[in-house]
Amino acid sequence: YGDPSQKIDYVFKVVLIGDSAVGKSQILARFARNEFSLDSKATIGVEFQTRTLVIEHKSVKAQIWDTAGQERYRAVTSAYYRGAVGAMLVYDITKRQTFDHIPRWLEELRGHADKNIVIILIGNKSDLENQRAVPTEDAKEFAQKEGLFFLETSALEATNVETAFLTVLTEIFNIVN
Ligand code: GDP
Ligand code: MG
Repeated sequence: YGDPSQKIDYVFKVVLIGDSAVGKSQILARFARNEFSLDSKATIGVEFQTRTLVIEHKSVKAQIWDTAGQERYRAVTSAYYRGAVGAMLVYDITKRQTFDHIPRWLEELRGHADKNIVIILIGNKSDLENQRAVPTEDAKEFAQKEGLFFLETSALEATNVETAFLTVLTEIFNIVN
């Protein structure tokens, strides 16, 4: 997961937002350390984690911010969004309410963040297909209407987590280049 001595060409700040317990911290743990924990308290208090990867022969340090338990509406401060060039808007495919709250998160994000921020909508816990409460089509349609990227992920099974981050980071990379 990256040679720490390598020179860094870019640092991109990406924020994770969405309701509590949708899997934000585990998505980050999977991306940054290739870890997963069923104990959601495992990563509390961590502000951000980084991972350096190579995009088109440049080294890009992704600095991924996690809300660490501030998910109540409007509790996430503007400092959290400051300087963010990417955002991952996460809901849980087994909890309809977490999807219904997405427009709120999007509104808050658009109120605080840069206009050109790259946003991906993520339906997490795709491994729990038998408990699905949000049809893929509903989310796809919403994402299309709002101009967001969209993927379903499983932090548990490591499905699409890498792709989700690469989608956002590559898009940001293309905007700044
Ligand atoms: P956060 O509050 O959004 O940061 O959510 P957490 O990352 O703490 O995850 C909440 C709970 O969901 C924990 O028990 C995780 O182990 C579990 N979880 C997270 N991602 C997944 C996933 O992809 N699949 C399943 N089955 N459980 C997950
Ligand atoms: Mg968390």
